[in-house]
Amino acid sequence: MPELPDVEVFKQYLDSTALHQKIQKVQVFSRQVLNTSSQKLSRSLKGQKLIGSRRLGKFLMIETDNGRWLVLHFGMTGGLKYYDEDQEKPEHERMRLNFSNGYHLGYDCQRMLGEIDVTEEPDEYLEERDFGPDAGEISLEQFRELIHNRRGSIKSALMNQKAVSGIGNVYSDEILYQSKIHPRRKTSELSGSEIKKIYKKMQYVFGKAVECQAQRKNMPKTWLIEHRSEDHDCPRCGGQIKKIQITGRNAYLCPQCQS
Ligand SMILES: [Zn+2]
Repeated sequence: MPELPDVEVFKQYLDSTALHQKIQKVQVFSRQVLNTSSQKLSRSLKGQKLIGSRRLGKFLMIETDNGRWLVLHFGMTGGLKYYDEDQEKPEHERMRLNFSNGYHLGYDCQRMLGEIDVTEEPDEYLEERDFGPDAGEISLEQFRELIHNRRGSIKSALMNQKAVSGIGNVYSDEILYQSKIHPRRKTSELSGSEIKKIYKKMQYVFGKAVECQAQRKNMPKTWLIEHRSEDHDCPRCGGQIKKIQITGRNAYLCPQCQS
């Protein structure tokens, strides 16, 4: 599932390809991913240019020159592709913007759990839906307060978009693995220094993952990310990686390294 680093890479991709071209036509191929009507989407975008973007949690917000924002969420799978007639269109293209230079921006989302919308106020859009602050921009103080205010395990708290937004299953495992903290630990039982460690590791993991273009194979070999399987050994201690269930999600950890 695209998490903060993946969406940040989509943002960089969009910013380096699809900006400043006039949108001639908007095509929707699966209305299921729309949180708005195709008419409204088309009315908001047609004749406009994309002028910039922001990533907020797992959302990519793209500004148009009429002050509206195209809201994209990528669900479980998804991405963007900027292409012309000589290139293949995305395999599961659900929406396409056609630009005046002959290029297209395709929104790809295989499992249709993504969302497309338009808004005039990106921050309010997320506030109204109760999303917490972005994990990449949150301060340590805010993080500490938000984590302490959640009940249950640290893994669930990290993944809860209403506490902090941007972290999903894969990166919550990575952050806790690198912090050497067991994902089942109760947030209420974590010490101040443990929360600080999680916060620091979160910043490091996201920074590094974006530097690696969110490509797992490019990430440091000491990370858990390429070893999220019970067939694998811990890249740090050689112990066996274990899978457990936490609030219905598979969590991977090294029981020897994490306590
Ligand atoms: Zn280990």
